[in-house]
Amino acid sequence: MTITHHPGEETLAAFAAGTLDEPRSVVVAAHVALCPRCRATVAAFEQFGGSLVERAAPAPSRVGALDEALARLDEATPPAPVLRDAAPDCPDVLAPYEVGRWRWIGPGVHWRKVEVPESEGTRVFMLKAAPGSSLPHHGHSGVEWTCVLQGAFRHDLGRYGPGDFDEADSTVDHTPSVEEGDVCICLVAMQGNLELRGWLGKLLQPFVRL
Ligand SMILES: [Zn+2]
Repeated sequence: MTITHHPGEETLAAFAAGTLDEPRSVVVAAHVALCPRCRATVAAFEQFGGSLVERAAPAPSRVGALDEALARLDEATPPAPVLRDAAPDCPDVLAPYEVGRWRWIGPGVHWRKVEVPESEGTRVFMLKAAPGSSLPHHGHSGVEWTCVLQGAFRHDLGRYGPGDFDEADSTVDHTPSVEEGDVCICLVAMQGNLELRGWLGKLLQPFVRL
């Protein structure tokens, strides 16, 4: 797996510090599970954070802080196989959450809800798109973070294959197209609403209740 698009360092630092909201953390965790480079970065941030806590904390709580930092390091180590046996298209990071049924939202495109508690209008869902399909041309009113689990899509900013992380915000207005070959499955955290554009978008908008 060649991963070319990673979360920014600020994102990884916030993830390591536990200050990122849960919906976005889930998508970052999916990438980190697939990406040795970002796993190392997160572990380094955690170690750094742990040493700051140790230095700052008064003696009695120092032991607890260290334990906590070590426990987090353990958590950050090695991802088991990404896909669960029971639900082959569901990554391990979704194990704690209820995942809805796939629902049709457009030609070749399905989505399903992931019951991560919503935070500041950010929700998590999975998207599955057939090879060669185009996702409706869309913009969004907030961040849209995507981790590709399988297959690949392209948009103006490049190609996104398995493990790649796409950190788009409301300035991005794009029409991703799915490559031929594999079905493309993504995990997405989206803030605000998906704004579909064009005739297809107008047709589909009533069906999209993300
Ligand atoms: Zn990475």
